[in-house]
Amino acid sequence: MEATKFIYLNGEFVPFADAKVHILAPVMKYGALVFEGICAYWSAAARQSYVFRNAEHVQRLRESMRILRFDDSHLPAKLDEIVRRTVEINEIRSDAHIRLAAWIDGAGEMDSAGPVSVACTAMARAERTIDGRFRTATISNWRRIDDRSMPPRVKTAANYSNSRLALMQARGDGYQEAILLGVDGKVSEGTAACFFMVRNGVVVTPPVTSGILESVTRATLLEVLRDVLRLPVQERPIDRTEVYVADEAFLCGSVYEITPLKSIDRIPVGKGEIGEVTRSLWNSYESHVRGETGGNRGWLTPVFGSVAAAAM
Ligand code: PMP
Repeated sequence: MEATKFIYLNGEFVPFADAKVHILAPVMKYGALVFEGICAYWSAAARQSYVFRNAEHVQRLRESMRILRFDDSHLPAKLDEIVRRTVEINEIRSDAHIRLAAWIDGAGEMDSAGPVSVACTAMARAERTIDGRFRTATISNWRRIDDRSMPPRVKTAANYSNSRLALMQARGDGYQEAILLGVDGKVSEGTAACFFMVRNGVVVTPPVTSGILESVTRATLLEVLRDVLRLPVQERPIDRTEVYVADEAFLCGSVYEITPLKSIDRIPVGKGEIGEVTRSLWNSYESHVRGETGGNRGWLTPVFGSVAAAAM
């Protein structure tokens, strides 16, 4: 099945069927791949699509490569332009999900630093409502990976076996989402999303040292909560039992956006309804990602009608 028409692969856009990787490449043998999931949002009013926080995603991809010691010296300088162009060349005039990936190619071994290949794909995505994604969650009995062994700060495909274990167990047990505790027993994050709760009027989320991915959405929401909604915010360790007495709780991420939690371990969150803070945060997030707030804080890259980039 063709999920998208053109895929960026090492300097050119190739048809879907031609984007291939060899079975003996270190990416296949050792999971040596880092990636970003990025969203673009369609604005009907502006007849324009905007890539959300393109530069921050590219920066995180570079940091993931650095920690895993990929040789990034031959990478295209303008990865952000590749992201924009991938949406444009596929003419996606709706919301879109973009995947930018870099991996160890060739036929090397575990200690190969290259050659590094780069690919970018973009696929149309349906618009969502907050009411359509009100979910149940459980605290997983799997622990989140840790900076001493598999650093969660690195967005590598290999880390997602931890997420998969937790998610498959949660689904098998009848829940929609899993929340993982870290090795210290404190709340870490979801399987592909960060965790927030509201307790007594304060919005709380674990710090970046709690075994989480340094989420772009988390950083965005912290800024919106502080500067736009003017709510008190704390980044601090969260105990398991705190989530059972939270007034509101939600997961956040590029794909999850803001996903409110209905219950955790079958205990209703607050009144079991989508809370006021969660709803107003969603409204604010929606207007920021679609460029409807006036000043866009440098968060948006227009897709269509840009002057074509020089080197890719
Ligand atoms: N944590 C994990 C483990 C994730 O996979 C994701 C999704 N990238 C997030 C958090 C949210 O990160 P972001 O807001 O940058 O998408």
